[in-house]
Amino acid sequence: MEITDLAQHIAFLRDQIREHDYRYYVLDDPIVSDAEYDALMGELRNLEALHPELVTLDSPTQRVGIAPSDHFAKVQHPQPMLSLGNAFDEGELNVWRERVLTLLGAQAQIAYVVEPKIDGLAIALTYEYGRFVRGATRGDGETGEDVTANLRTVKELPLTLRIPSSDDQVNTFIDVPMQLPDSIEVRGEIYMRSADFEALNKRLAASGEKIFANARNAAAGSLRQKDPMITNDRPLRFFAYAVGLLNGVSLDAQWQTLHYLRILGFPVNRDARCFTDFAEVVTYCREWMAQRETLQYEADGVVIKIDAFAQQNELGVVGRDPRWAIAFKFPAREAITRLLNISVNVGRTGVITPAAELEPINLSGVTVRNASLHNADYIAERDIRIGDYVTVKRAGDVIPYVIGPVVVRRSGDEQPFQFPAQCPACGTPLERVEGEAAWRCPNFGICPAQLVRRVEHFVSRIALDIVGIGEKQADLFVSKGLINDVADLYTLQAEDLADMEGFGPKRIANLLDAIEQSKQRPLDRLLVGLGIRYVGSVAAATLAGVFESLDRLLEASQAELENIDGIGQVVAASIVDYFQHHENRVIIEKLRAAGVNFSGAPFVERHSAILDGKTFVLTGTLPNMTREQAAALIKAHGGKVTESVTKKTGYVVAGANPGSKLAKAQSLGITILDELGLQELVGAVENGEQGATAEPADSAANDGDDDIGQLRFNL
Ligand code: NAD
Repeated sequence: MEITDLAQHIAFLRDQIREHDYRYYVLDDPIVSDAEYDALMGELRNLEALHPELVTLDSPTQRVGIAPSDHFAKVQHPQPMLSLGNAFDEGELNVWRERVLTLLGAQAQIAYVVEPKIDGLAIALTYEYGRFVRGATRGDGETGEDVTANLRTVKELPLTLRIPSSDDQVNTFIDVPMQLPDSIEVRGEIYMRSADFEALNKRLAASGEKIFANARNAAAGSLRQKDPMITNDRPLRFFAYAVGLLNGVSLDAQWQTLHYLRILGFPVNRDARCFTDFAEVVTYCREWMAQRETLQYEADGVVIKIDAFAQQNELGVVGRDPRWAIAFKFPAREAITRLLNISVNVGRTGVITPAAELEPINLSGVTVRNASLHNADYIAERDIRIGDYVTVKRAGDVIPYVIGPVVVRRSGDEQPFQFPAQCPACGTPLERVEGEAAWRCPNFGICPAQLVRRVEHFVSRIALDIVGIGEKQADLFVSKGLINDVADLYTLQAEDLADMEGFGPKRIANLLDAIEQSKQRPLDRLLVGLGIRYVGSVAAATLAGVFESLDRLLEASQAELENIDGIGQVVAASIVDYFQHHENRVIIEKLRAAGVNFSGAPFVERHSAILDGKTFVLTGTLPNMTREQAAALIKAHGGKVTESVTKKTGYVVAGANPGSKLAKAQSLGITILDELGLQELVGAVENGEQGATAEPADSAANDGDDDIGQLRFNL
């Protein structure tokens, strides 16, 4: 490229980045994904590195964020609020560490503080003589926006500082000043929990207001409201992670600072750690990435900081990034892509679900082509149109879903979506039960699409586990009229299959053998296979354990079912309703006639009795285990798994996107475990360390305050 072309291209990149900065930082309404933005910034950085003579002071690479908006008074930061350099993999993390060692000297004793990088909005809070006097956004790093009135509405933010007491010193095991500072500037992140963000968007969409693309924008948009009453209505939270200007006391290190902030009454992230061995830093980054799915908030990485302030000062700042810290970034879970079409699927209970067909996009290492659109209301409230650019999110094992459209990128050719009035499979007019979001095909016994789904469910691994039948085969059997319900699978004959494409003699023999074998599956698996609403593996195992026979369950009354520990009113009603239907009774009789096993308690392999008497509830998606596997693990150690959280619940095991069970458990003070916590609970027991570690790690050192306990525990 000629130098003039290059200068023009650089100017073009800067203009683009500035426009995206404006939309992101001022309007809280980005129109490109962070990955696209980072790519533009990466290109600009590379070109500027190759041609330092073309670097200008106003280049986006030289400054953070954007100048404060005119809606707010301006606040000059006493010390600049910086950004962070990024490492996208372990190699880049090591490069950063090498540079630190080069600058500090290979013999330097270095401690590293590792903190979750919460995806929110950086703010600076000034306290004078213990009282909150001013709060400002980062703005362009030098000057921020005065959002004091809005910040006062954030419940987690102390308006007066807590006075340290001598007990605090005993509890922290680390020297912290035992007095209030004359003045202190506390820095941290305003953020919104994922569940609160979803609920806010739902509320905004239902009242026809604009939704936010992600929790970060929701937090920033909610804080930067002209009317503090609106901010007051938004579920904002705060984590403190640094101190700017400080008078009256002195601090020497980041780890000490976190403890001091905690003592002054600020929420400090309980997952912060301090390590002296860099290998442990890297391991923790890895562990944390795996743990990301269990968090209640969005974290886009971890921040690694050199602990000692003396070393931080020695390392200094380059451009807008301190050399003494780095953000280890996680792969993006959100992206913006094109919605090519909307298809509708019929589920096994007749629920019609719309699905987005997307221009393929990479999200945390996986190519995403389809995403959920939940239901008709969801599409209508968000005005999602075919052809729109949409924000898509993929978290954990949860099916990717569309958050909403990027309205400003519309060309005018986008088409509003007409939700079908008839079942796309059988043409029956769709119905909607009062109070439910879903439209259903009411043609329960007959609709071929529902039948295909029920067969798929019946043969799945968690149910009758018939290898050799999947969606394609189920579709084939139904469309050829070979089966009219799941029980007809047991009437399939070799000659029925012989003239079907892809079915040779060997395959037919294997399939019929697999069908035959499935007759011996335990009762709980059959109960799952029947597809009774709300009866998954956990409830099915409970029912099989109590009744030990399908015939006894058939006769059970609503009251009898409700009396069973772990079976609530809704599940009981659904079971009674299922068995009342004549067509379901017919299926059961056909299964009986085919010789399918109707009796026996679920088989539980016992490893230990250490969880005897302990009751667990599972919620959300665990990173490596299915719910069935987690339930089996608990039962193998004598624990019991129930559906609902009550005061009697011992532990809640929470994965990604937990439901209301997690909130209930928190309100009841029940111990929450993630997958690792569950494994540790069982693993520690297996190692014979019963007394010391049968409780989760942090509760041993916990005197009612999780966060302090965790910090102390890890120091
Ligand atoms: P950054 O988000 O990469 O890192 C700095 C920020 O991390 C701090 O300001 C602070 O808010 C936050 N943080 C969270 N936890 C922290 C902790 N424990 N310690 C210290 N800081 C912590 O940098 P940035 O300059 O705020 O923003 C750049 C990011 O914003 C990029 O990833 C970019 O993709 C995104 N962005 C996107 C668009 C868009 O249009 N999509 C536009 C502008 C910026």
